[in-house]
Amino acid sequence: DIHPLTTLAIEVEAGPDAPLIPLSSGLADDLFEHDGQITKRDVRAVTLSALSPRPGELLWDVGLGSGSVAIEWLLRHGSLCAVGIEARQDRADRAMRNALALGAPELKVVVGRAPDVLADIAPPDAVFIGGGISEEGVFEGAWSKLKSGGRLVANVISLEGEARLIDLFNRHGGELIRVAVSRIEPVGRMHGWRQAMPVTQWRVTK
Ligand code: SAH
Repeated sequence: DIHPLTTLAIEVEAGPDAPLIPLSSGLADDLFEHDGQITKRDVRAVTLSALSPRPGELLWDVGLGSGSVAIEWLLRHGSLCAVGIEARQDRADRAMRNALALGAPELKVVVGRAPDVLADIAPPDAVFIGGGISEEGVFEGAWSKLKSGGRLVANVISLEGEARLIDLFNRHGGELIRVAVSRIEPVGRMHGWRQAMPVTQWRVTK
């Protein structure tokens, strides 16, 4: 009774209540185990669009968190590769659990801080920086290893992070966008818009 859309990992536990994994980017947040540090669904779909995976490419996901971005990259095509860099062991473990549960067991995880650990990883075709962009040398470490023609995408929510992105935009060009998502929530017996913290995203091609 396996639905054609279910992936390898889901087949193992497939039953009447097994979740189906859609083919689109921007999977529901609750498909991932997370501690609140996760790139939310709508922003994740925009982020995957900016990362623009092509067959055979390697992604670095710096600040792996729950792994949602690297996992969605891997789910796009069987030929893709991804390395996640995460400072916290508990988050690295959680990301690997998510990768196994969602059918992306090929995720590679490096536990350690960027930029220290970046030098030993194979040069990427695309880099996502979801944590650490304000830290000394993180951008430079990733940018210097990024292949010519590769894409770098960075998301921030803090003012300090945004100041860093504006400085990088002034020096390297690219595009800045801001994504401000609001959702309907109950207000008494009625409903109102609840605005999530806006995410500023910088995209640049090397
Ligand atoms: N994109 C992730 C969420 C990232 S939250 C997701 O969708 O789940 C930011 C993460 O970056 C945190 O887990 C934090 O531990 C990690 N981080 C911050 N600075 C870092 C650094 N310099 N090196 C490695 N990881 C870092």
